[in-house]
Amino acid sequence: MKLIFLGPPGVGKGTIAKMVSRDYNIPQISTGDLLRAELKLESELGQKAKEYIEGGHLVPDELVINLLKNRINKEDCENGFILDGFPRTIPQAKALLEHGITIDKVINFTSPNEVIIKRLSSRRTCKNCGAIYNIITVPPKVENTCDKCQGELFQRDDDKPEAIKNRLVVYKLSTEPLIEFYETQGKLVSIDGTDTPQIVYEKTKEILK
Ligand code: AMP
Repeated sequence: MKLIFLGPPGVGKGTIAKMVSRDYNIPQISTGDLLRAELKLESELGQKAKEYIEGGHLVPDELVINLLKNRINKEDCENGFILDGFPRTIPQAKALLEHGITIDKVINFTSPNEVIIKRLSSRRTCKNCGAIYNIITVPPKVENTCDKCQGELFQRDDDKPEAIKNRLVVYKLSTEPLIEFYETQGKLVSIDGTDTPQIVYEKTKEILK
């Protein structure tokens, strides 16, 4: 099963992708996570991508496409995968086609901008294990400390107000056209992403049946 999870940043697609990955035994491939790992390693790619990511802009297609191709060629992707945050532009979607990757379904998670802004600005991430919290809806038991590994929580630079604004503009201009792209291929199903993760996951499972 090859899936694409589409939707604005902060809509919760990563959370649902983790649940699908666990229950359907296919990897979640988040290009955001892959890029952040490169940043941490201070690799050449990480250094090239740093400013784009921190400012809330898209990393150039060529860099992300190469990164994704390398990941998809790994053995654990043989039975499928969930692409979370890729493609984000029409050229990225075309690159999948050019590489003979046939997507079974595209799930488009939707949410109004006010909800997104609230969610992203209250999101905190563990420096150590990457676990995600929300200081309003899913706070850690001890302030600023990860429940799982006791790592310190921080706010991603791109979860700060100016970058959030950029990310939403970028989403509208570059990523939203993918809705029509996949709609015309008959692959797109939309789900309201403002419900609780459990409800959104139930709806997702119905689609995957
Ligand atoms: P995410 O964690 O998916 O919100 O991604 C964080 C940041 O990584 C984005 O704001 C972009 O700067 C970059 N990024 C992630 N995926 C892509 C992609 N498919 N194309 C271009 N940039 C990306």
